[in-house]
Amino acid sequence: MEERRFADRIQGIKGNAIRELLKVSQQPGMISFAGGLPSPDSFDIETINKLFINAMERDGKRILQYGSTEGYQPLLDELLKCLRRQGFDIGLENLIVLSGSQQGINLVSKALLNPGDQVAVESPSYLAALQIFRTYQVEYVVIPADQDGMDIDVLTEKLATEKPKIIYIVPTFQNPSSATLSMERRQQVAKLLSQHEVILVEDNPYGDLRYSGDHLPSIYSLDQSQQTLYLGSFSKTIAPGLRVGYAIGSPDLINKIKICKQGTDVHTSMVSQAIVSEYLNQGLYEPHIEDVKTLYRGKRDLFLAEMTKNFPAEVKWNFPEGGLFIWAELPSGYDARDLFNMAIAEKVAFVPGETFFVDGRKNCFRLNFSNASEENIVIGLKRLGDALRLLLAK
Ligand code: PMP
Repeated sequence: MEERRFADRIQGIKGNAIRELLKVSQQPGMISFAGGLPSPDSFDIETINKLFINAMERDGKRILQYGSTEGYQPLLDELLKCLRRQGFDIGLENLIVLSGSQQGINLVSKALLNPGDQVAVESPSYLAALQIFRTYQVEYVVIPADQDGMDIDVLTEKLATEKPKIIYIVPTFQNPSSATLSMERRQQVAKLLSQHEVILVEDNPYGDLRYSGDHLPSIYSLDQSQQTLYLGSFSKTIAPGLRVGYAIGSPDLINKIKICKQGTDVHTSMVSQAIVSEYLNQGLYEPHIEDVKTLYRGKRDLFLAEMTKNFPAEVKWNFPEGGLFIWAELPSGYDARDLFNMAIAEKVAFVPGETFFVDGRKNCFRLNFSNASEENIVIGLKRLGDALRLLLAK
């Protein structure tokens, strides 16, 4: 069908570049550090199977029926307890279950954004969020970021001259950079929220996966203005295939999100919600996260050690305190897409950084350390080291 026949909102938008890369990375013999995938070893299949059977026996008639848009009541009750323990001062009116936290990015956009509105994003930013915002025909206000997260001085300046409706931040172990917004900057963001009419979307799918360093409070908990929509997810801690996440926000915003969700998927799978609810109710969630953290801490440390062993000295990278990614940088002037082509020839994949920048910086790349086996981490990083030497010798 000709492009002109599609809606303006989708014109010129290409498929998610990472999803395209994932196809390449599934070629036989390829070792992939590309997708942001959890390790299959982190899925507690036996437990999930038992919880599924329990849920069916106990509440099958309800969970196979249509349910309410805001969520399966036992899960809402468990979530509330769990979130209050984490310091969220909230009631049921502040909460909605989502089919993954990504749905929250879409629904808040649907609820707030008109064509031509502005959205402030960090650079680099989560690719799928950029793509979602683009389908609402917005303009970006691009805010640079470093290893302490978004540059709040620039955000302050931009808020004085521009009028974004949404500020989108992944404050903890950001995708792709693994940057974590410092305490000082979190407080500065909260202060800015008290001075401006703008919604902060605080997207936090990785916050529970901290392997070292100190926990930082959510911006939601620091924000007195009640303009933060906090998004959480069980994708990286239990399993992404369940598609269970949630949003926390002011009752009026949650209500609009609920209306948008009604028209999108009616409700999140009750079966998935029942499994997550049992996970929480039986006290299995916290010990499970500890196991996942032990698994990923080991992988991160192995990954970093192998990078040090195999990568030329000109390549730089960060030390992620949590999450799933290492963010690496080639000397300026090099293009990570050239490295990608050489790496594919060596049968190892990663994501070139350009796709994460609205303004197209080319010399960074993202490595996922959670998904590959330890054996493949060792082999894959040796291959990538070879590809890097080839590139830098050019
Ligand atoms: N936000 C960020 C920053 C992510 O990296 C991801 C997962 N890749 C999501 C949201 C979506 O997660 P979910 O599976 O909960 O929809």
